[in-house]
Amino acid sequence: MKAGNYSSDVQAVNPRHYFSVIIFLITFQVACFAQISSKDFEIKKLAHGVYAAIHKPGGRAICNAGIVDLGNETLVFDPFISPYAAQELKRVIIEMGLGPVKYVVNSHYHDDHIRGNQVFKGASVYSTLVTRDLIEKTEREEFKNNNQNLPAVIAKSDSALAAVPANDTSQKIQLEFWNSYYKTILESQKILQTVLPDKIVTLRETIKGSKQSVELIDMGMGHTVSDLIVYIPKRKIIFTGDLLFINNHTWIADASLDSLKKCLIKMKALNPSILVPGHGPVGNRNDIDVLLTYLENINQLAEAQIKKGLKPEEIKEIPMPAAYQHWLLGRFYLPNVKFQMKQLVSQKSKTEK
Ligand SMILES: [Zn+2]
Repeated sequence: MKAGNYSSDVQAVNPRHYFSVIIFLITFQVACFAQISSKDFEIKKLAHGVYAAIHKPGGRAICNAGIVDLGNETLVFDPFISPYAAQELKRVIIEMGLGPVKYVVNSHYHDDHIRGNQVFKGASVYSTLVTRDLIEKTEREEFKNNNQNLPAVIAKSDSALAAVPANDTSQKIQLEFWNSYYKTILESQKILQTVLPDKIVTLRETIKGSKQSVELIDMGMGHTVSDLIVYIPKRKIIFTGDLLFINNHTWIADASLDSLKKCLIKMKALNPSILVPGHGPVGNRNDIDVLLTYLENINQLAEAQIKKGLKPEEIKEIPMPAAYQHWLLGRFYLPNVKFQMKQLVSQKSKTEK
């Protein structure tokens, strides 16, 4: 059937009837959006068949996920920290009328990006080999630690939150994030099962669908020792995992500042129009530059502390530049500076040998 076949039908429609059809379609779409909302995340349409599921404050997603309609099958990128939030994602995918989830991608081993794997039974789970091995090792330890320590951590977090002055909204938002993070983990411990990736990505792999194809790119060491991104060349969209944070402090201590910088430059070279960060709102190429500037700031501060003759363990506080004060995950700022100090000192001692 050719598209031209529809033209005579459209002309035959009475204008009043046509208007009612439009009203019906608008109402239907509004009803659909109402249905597909979730308290854990917000669905953002990025292009035809490409969606971001952005963590909502107080929700159980914690990281951002991606949904790609490949045609008859669906791909999910980074299925959240909580299997409950991943179940919500599964429900939303069904309500959007998309095909079954056949592909799940884990960008890196951190718990907030992988714990929804168990919900997508029958799907192939993709990661790098390093990530697979790290999930196997760290999840076992994390599970034990969480059961032992979380109740006390939550009690402390509850009292810290209760003690925040009512007018200190910025501090309140930071503490509320962590409070909800800890409670989400504790809640999910009851049903948590570690599902390891079963498809190993080396360098670059294409998943071809009838509607569109995606590329899985092994970026090497970046935010962790191994990071994987999903790139949709036709749409110029990248799901970055934690290689990019927007309006959030990044975390460099599981890899290095230089490796993260290298990956950001590599992503920029792909010339993307839309980037979905691991944390924060959907962004664009400029957000890569913002994070590069942040990393430069961390590096300069670390150098300045070393010049003053200070050791990382002696530093209790560092004033945060105004540009970053409203960013979430503010508690990462000082450890980032201290980690970079250690890196610089060890680099210097290596070159002196
Ligand atoms: Zn991470």
